[in-house]
Amino acid sequence: MIKGDEESAHQIRDILCSLKEYIYYMMSSGVHEIYSGSIDSYEHEVLGRLEDIRRKMRHCTRCKLSQHRTNIVFGEGNPCAKVLFVGEGPGYEEDQTGRPFVGNAGKKLTEIIERGMQMSRDEVYICNIVKCRPPNNRDPQEDEIRACIPFLEEQIDTIKPEVIITLGLQAAQAIVGIRQPISQARGKWYKYRGIPVMPTYHPSFVLRSYTTAVRRQVWDDVREALRAAKEGR
Ligand code: SF4
Repeated sequence: MIKGDEESAHQIRDILCSLKEYIYYMMSSGVHEIYSGSIDSYEHEVLGRLEDIRRKMRHCTRCKLSQHRTNIVFGEGNPCAKVLFVGEGPGYEEDQTGRPFVGNAGKKLTEIIERGMQMSRDEVYICNIVKCRPPNNRDPQEDEIRACIPFLEEQIDTIKPEVIITLGLQAAQAIVGIRQPISQARGKWYKYRGIPVMPTYHPSFVLRSYTTAVRRQVWDDVREALRAAKEGR
């Protein structure tokens, strides 16, 4: 392919990605009239099922995290994603916007996806164990995780990812029940309802411990997960 053609191909791919992301966004906001042949019927069906889950939790008061939230942070991304990221819970920016991983940790996660995995953020799905912000960014408590995790289970059952990447100790504990420190648990495979799970560090830990070794470990983990996702379970 000559250089000009290559650039045009990149531009067309970027436009298509943006368009698809916009359609997902509009549909997840309840605007279903824009549905067209660009999203196939299976994806449309999955989006519908995700919307049912979102509707179910709209006024959720199952746990005390409901008391101080501004927005429920449901999750976002490709409804048919092969790779699903699970963090522990929303922070301040996420609570304000209703979107997962949009603060500094979110920017780091986007960089990991784009540079480490050579994917765009809208190709994966991103969500959390608890959907409402724990006060002062504390860890979610056991009763809160117990109350909220059925929603995550429904999301996972609906999206059916090839692999799950958990971000940080809390997410790995909640999903696969690890007991060892994340530094020992990361980089190894676990299973959740038959789906391979790769725990890695939380992006905010990467920002706090910005060493070559930590960054290399995270990139190794996500690339290994991507390899498994491409090969299928
Ligand atoms: Fe409901 Fe989950 Fe929010 Fe608790 S964290 S109120 S269970 S949506």
